[in-house]
Amino acid sequence: MSSTMPGLTDSALADPSADTSLFLSTLTASPREKRLALSVLLLSLLVFALLAPFASVPLTPIWGFIPCYESWLVVTDLITAALLFSQYFSFNSRALFVLGCGYLYVACMTVAHALSFPGLFTPTGLLGAGPQSSAWLYMFWHGVFPLFVVAYARFKGRDCVSAVLPRRPRLPLAAAGAAMVALSAGFTALATAGQDLLPELMDGDRYRSSMPLAVALVWASSLLALAVLWFSRPHSVLDLWLMIMLCASLIDIALSATLNGGRFDLGFYAGRVYGLLAASFVLLVLLAESGILYRKLVQLTEALKRLTTQDALTGIGNRRAFDGTLDLELRRAMRSGQPLSLLMIDVDHFKNFNDHFGHVEGDRCLQMVAKTLNVAVVRAADMVARYGGEEFVALLPGTDTAAAAQVAERLRAAVEALRIVHRGTLESSRVTVSIGVACLHPVWSAASAGQEAGYPVGLDLVERADRALYAAKTAGRNRVVMAEPSPG
Ligand code: GH3
Ligand code: MG
Ligand code: MG
Repeated sequence: MSSTMPGLTDSALADPSADTSLFLSTLTASPREKRLALSVLLLSLLVFALLAPFASVPLTPIWGFIPCYESWLVVTDLITAALLFSQYFSFNSRALFVLGCGYLYVACMTVAHALSFPGLFTPTGLLGAGPQSSAWLYMFWHGVFPLFVVAYARFKGRDCVSAVLPRRPRLPLAAAGAAMVALSAGFTALATAGQDLLPELMDGDRYRSSMPLAVALVWASSLLALAVLWFSRPHSVLDLWLMIMLCASLIDIALSATLNGGRFDLGFYAGRVYGLLAASFVLLVLLAESGILYRKLVQLTEALKRLTTQDALTGIGNRRAFDGTLDLELRRAMRSGQPLSLLMIDVDHFKNFNDHFGHVEGDRCLQMVAKTLNVAVVRAADMVARYGGEEFVALLPGTDTAAAAQVAERLRAAVEALRIVHRGTLESSRVTVSIGVACLHPVWSAASAGQEAGYPVGLDLVERADRALYAAKTAGRNRVVMAEPSPG
């Protein structure tokens, strides 16, 4: 039986973790998602065009801005890295692992940048920073991250997404953490202790003439990542937002390191706002994905539950569902002292029916009988299930012997009233059923109050109903026979 859930594919049911259509990071972007991304890009470019002429207008230095902005970035990047790593664990994707490393690197570099920013914690910045340190850290941060995106794009085409988890999943994560801390520590050491080796970018809060060269390198790195991503088709939803993130990052650099004149002017602030947006795009996409994943998980669980308890041919409960309900109702009956009745229903001479009309027609007949039985039991607690082959069961909680006999007769008559033509039987020219009825009576259960309900009691009920069914068959079929009460 295939799933009828919207958005759930058969392969998702066969192996949910291997269905890549469940994940935005591997799901191909739809035209609607492409339009949304394009609108965000055009809006960003429009705002950039409006701000660009005023980028060097000086504004009041707000010292609280940098720690707020950088704290936001660190938290955002760490959450993004955690989500990417968790997806790496889900389907063993090296591309997502590398991208997660990139976000981890950015988080480390952001901390180093904040600590070394002059005037924030100390007049010259912590970590032994000099006047050039934070500017160079900004370049290392923005120039190296796109290289992780390039690696992501290269890996994503070769990743064979599978549900096979990494053998020791914590090991690569610990290695990645250590490597990213080491890499950012290396760049921090170069930008602080080794700043004399690097060209000077800053003259106080203003930029020196060597700044455009450093910016050009950073731009080139972002443009390279953009180009590699663009040519690694098809684009996933994640690719799309990574490209938007790179564009926002290019605008950030243009406003805060090229078109403006130095720290605390309009370009400096606006560029950083773009930086925040750039960092948030991918996180928002991943968070949206988590919501979608939860919804699909619920759908998948429901579909699986239905598949394991529903009979594929007739759509009513199957043997497993019956066994579960019988156990539950037996316990309830033993506790409450309420009667519980069981009807064993068997289609008469069904082998002959198949022999005459073929299996397809036989299946259709079983479907009609199942539907009729299901409709003919009226109480919400009543249950009809396919016991196996051409045998059905009806479980009637709170129903005593007399009432069960009435229900059984109603079911028998309802099947006969279907008037399905049958050949190869002497008793009737229509499809009929024989029914054996057994009842677990309150008097009986009161007498056995100390006895544990469950398998032996249920077995006794089924056996008695089965014996009654056999008696109905030998008595000429198309009839209801009541079982003898249990000796207790
Ligand atoms: P009786 O009146 O004694 O019950 O005779 P019967 O022929 O119904 O009983 P028997 O147990 O000899 O045969 C049951 C038949 O039901 C044999 C089997 O081919 C058929 N059957 C069981 N499951 C299915 C099914 O899913 N589809 C079809 N078409 N036939 C089925
Ligand atoms: Mg039969
Ligand atoms: Mg049978």
